Amino acid sequence: MAEKRDYYEVLGLSKGASDADIKKAFRKMAMKYHPDKNPGDKKAEEAFKEVNEAYTILSDPDKKSKYDKFGHAGVDPNAGFGGAGGFGGFGGAGGFDDIFDIFGNMFGGGGFGGGARRNGPMKGRDIQKAVTVSFEEAAFGTKRAISLDKYVKCSTCDGQGNEPGTEKKTCPNCNGTGQVHTVQRTPFGQFQSSGPCPECNGTGVKIETPCHTCGGAGKVRKNVKINIEIPAGVDNDTVIPIRGQGEPGTNGGPNGDLYVVISVKPHKLFKRNRDDLYLEIPITFDQAALGDEITVPTMEEKVSYKVPAGTQPGTTFRLRGKGMPNVRSGRKGDLYVKVNLEVPRTLNDEQRKAIAEMGKTLNQDCYKAKKSFGEKLKDLFS
Ligand SMILES: [Zn+2]
Ligand SMILES: [Zn+2]
Repeated sequence: MAEKRDYYEVLGLSKGASDADIKKAFRKMAMKYHPDKNPGDKKAEEAFKEVNEAYTILSDPDKKSKYDKFGHAGVDPNAGFGGAGGFGGFGGAGGFDDIFDIFGNMFGGGGFGGGARRNGPMKGRDIQKAVTVSFEEAAFGTKRAISLDKYVKCSTCDGQGNEPGTEKKTCPNCNGTGQVHTVQRTPFGQFQSSGPCPECNGTGVKIETPCHTCGGAGKVRKNVKINIEIPAGVDNDTVIPIRGQGEPGTNGGPNGDLYVVISVKPHKLFKRNRDDLYLEIPITFDQAALGDEITVPTMEEKVSYKVPAGTQPGTTFRLRGKGMPNVRSGRKGDLYVKVNLEVPRTLNDEQRKAIAEMGKTLNQDCYKAKKSFGEKLKDLFS
């Protein structure tokens, strides 16, 4: 990027915009420029990165105040992440808060883990949470307040680990490098290996007076409630990544992510396969023979469907667009309705007689198909 635009301008805001406005503007812009919506569009990709970066800064109170005071010079989005890469990638570090990156690849962005030095910033642990929804909730989307037992940043020491007012010291064991070298003598020669310093756990600093709340860990276990939005179209094993709601990072690293794993309760009428729904409906002999307008339930409403005269048992017809919405595109699948013929089980004498009479009048011609197979298909699937 040649010259950096003002972060507020990037989000279409003016200076002094509220946190809620910033979040709102970010959602809007992120949706607009998301690469899944603009495949192959380099400009949109750049804009998306810019929006992502602006929000990462403006959603962080500390960075925001630095930026407000010093402009771009006050905040370098790449600083403090140990240069491990991945920043600015789609669905990358932090900043997404409760935004649902349902388009994104679960493990695609981010990528702080691998290359980070042991005493450098490390991304916090990801957590998984199973959520069960009803079939209707899966069809229309829903909200859930979920409760998580997780580590959160200790507020007493702001995650630093040392008692407020005390200093951290450079670890004397590793001189602040976080690494120690050990030499092993074996019959085959000398081997040198290095590993994290056991004194400081690889952080390079030693806490002399641990924080009285967290005992030096910088984090405390807490029950946290968060509100999540479950988009329409989720299915069993759909994963909704929620950026930054995992456990806190260490040494200034970003929070981990939360992965909500969905399971959907079965429906008593509908079966689902991808975005299509399947339904079986009973019709009577006279309806099948004479044709009739029947009522078909769909997820949204009851619709009427004209069963043609001479409909055979087991015939399946399709109602376009009456299936489940696709969780990514929102496009609806189809509803397949299979017709089952109900044969009367109890008859009185009069009915038995009438059916017998009718049976005698039916000849071979009555059972012949009037239309070709192809024509029939065309009828059924139109
Ligand atoms: Zn603490
Ligand atoms: Zn050390």
